[in-house]
Amino acid sequence: MKTIGLLGGMSWESSVGYYQAINQGVKASLGGLHCAKIAMYSVDFDPIAKLQHSGDWEGTAKILIEGAKSVQAAGADFLLICTNTMHKVAPQIEAAIDIPLLHIADATADVLVKKGIKKVGLLGTAFTMEQDFYKGRLQNNSGLTVIVPDEADRKIVHNVIYKELCLGKAMPASKIEYLRIIESLAAQGAEAVILGCTEIGMLVDQSDTEITLLDTTTIHAQKAVEWAI
Ligand code: GLU
Repeated sequence: MKTIGLLGGMSWESSVGYYQAINQGVKASLGGLHCAKIAMYSVDFDPIAKLQHSGDWEGTAKILIEGAKSVQAAGADFLLICTNTMHKVAPQIEAAIDIPLLHIADATADVLVKKGIKKVGLLGTAFTMEQDFYKGRLQNNSGLTVIVPDEADRKIVHNVIYKELCLGKAMPASKIEYLRIIESLAAQGAEAVILGCTEIGMLVDQSDTEITLLDTTTIHAQKAVEWAI
């Protein structure tokens, strides 16, 4: 079994989900007392969130490169960046290490393509929904059409992530808003909706709606299990 490298802490609330899903995946595959071999580096998220919001992505890259190198030095065979948003600096991180990066958008695209989905809605931080590093990768590599909520709804989705979910708060009023936004993406033709932020699964899951939801934390963790075993 290979050692899975995790660059976590963004937020730690979602890294808990990664740790659990990866270990459950290995247990389900190998049985007995098997669990995953993991090397994890967990950052302090507060300075990173401040750098993101001031547009200093190179500053975030410096911190994450240091973390990624530590994960590699700890013996990881490949790396997961445990957040969608920070894949904005995935190219810099990939260039600084020798082990492969398991890109969260590629893992998600694989599932979409296998399901035969062509048009998909995307929820995530404003960075993920508005910039090209994630949407563009889905569209260019897999030929998917990706739609996002309108500006007012993107603001709601973004604020709930940073002001509630990353602080461990899953508020009923926010769940209602998210489900409304998911339904409006489906009404615009989305055949499924990507929960493209690793904390959204704390707020909504498949039992809340008939619209197909793709939880990127679960998908990324499952792909890591496949790579490891
Ligand atoms: N975990 C989130 C994501 O998947 C947001 C936190 C961050 O900015 O990294 O995008």
